[in-house]
Amino acid sequence: MEVPLLDLKAQYKSIKNEIDEAVFRVIESQHFILGPEVEQLETSLCQYLGCKHAIGVSSGTDALLVALMALDIQPGDEVIVPDYSFFATAGVVARLHAVPVFVDIDPVTFNIDSAKIRSKITKKTKAIMPVHLFGQSAAMTEVMAIAKEFNLKVVEDAAQAIGTQYKDGRKVGTIGDIGCFSFFPSKNLGAFGDAGLVTTNDDILAEKLQILRVHGAKPKYYHKYIGGNFRIDALQAAVLNVKLKYLDQWSAKRRENATLFTKLFIEAGLAEEEGKMAFDKKNKVLLPKAVYKNSGHPNHHIYNQYVIRIEKRDELKKHLLENGVGCEVYYPVPLHKQECFEYLRAEQNEFANSNSAASQSLALPIYPELCKESVEKLRNILQGLC
Ligand SMILES: *Cc1c(COP(=O)(O)O)cnc(C)c1O
Repeated sequence: MEVPLLDLKAQYKSIKNEIDEAVFRVIESQHFILGPEVEQLETSLCQYLGCKHAIGVSSGTDALLVALMALDIQPGDEVIVPDYSFFATAGVVARLHAVPVFVDIDPVTFNIDSAKIRSKITKKTKAIMPVHLFGQSAAMTEVMAIAKEFNLKVVEDAAQAIGTQYKDGRKVGTIGDIGCFSFFPSKNLGAFGDAGLVTTNDDILAEKLQILRVHGAKPKYYHKYIGGNFRIDALQAAVLNVKLKYLDQWSAKRRENATLFTKLFIEAGLAEEEGKMAFDKKNKVLLPKAVYKNSGHPNHHIYNQYVIRIEKRDELKKHLLENGVGCEVYYPVPLHKQECFEYLRAEQNEFANSNSAASQSLALPIYPELCKESVEKLRNILQGLC
């Protein structure tokens, strides 16, 4: 049997009636852009995330872009980003003709190494964009302290982390000035197309974000700012309104699967424990660690991805794919090495951890509907690796 990296059909099947009904409701109404479904989604997400304002937008990328626009990031301004993330985190900075300044990551969490931020701050620095990669919070206490000291804005890229709790219990995306989320189908809360969200507790920023979403106009046809079409569709909102109810139970299932996988690797003799930093005879595989597991908050990690590290990564990837197990490399090239960022001339020797993550990391199937047989298949493959 085949084990895909993600099985969205299984999820749809489990809630098909509700989803179909919601979609047809929108079709019957012929109200496709913004409107009541979107308002309901925004209200529910404010409540779920524990923030004052939630504004639906067209994608996670547009969420990041409109957030930087609302904070008035100008050409030449510098924005600090982790060197290891999906491209959009840095792409939106460069699109505003601002300068993404890359910082190496912490090898255990894959998130920005807060101890390396300070040395990157200059007079031009305006903001820090921590990413809560793979569904685990970045070190927000440290990031917020640095931001306060240097009077910088904080935009959280929570695209992979909806529902994730920081160690103090707050949901990520509500800690900095603006939080950005993606509802790309493969995220934990996935739409049936592109969609995203920005959150803030600041009334003035919220109003500006709302105006920027509709070309910067308020009232209509009177343009206060140069905005864009950053609107979310009603169809996407209707789907998300159904799915949001299940999000926590899906994330719990992903955590269960993560615990199970960790056990499988240890039983197969490939690793001793989670979060080991160095390869040796007893640790051929480095397992992901939920660093806030003992915080007492259930959503300390939502495992948008379960990412292991292994020296012969490309061999394992090939082996898994040949045996019908989906897997993927997030991400094969660190941001500072992307061709489009050559002009930034980043110091090549400052990124030891993101470089090794890019050559060693491999994401395995962790989706909530993963069945017993799939897990057994993985167990057999792992045992064969010793
Ligand atoms: C998915 C993702 C985005 C972009 O979201 P889209 O909805 O695909 O535009 C941004 N940042 C990170 C870290 C992501 O994983």
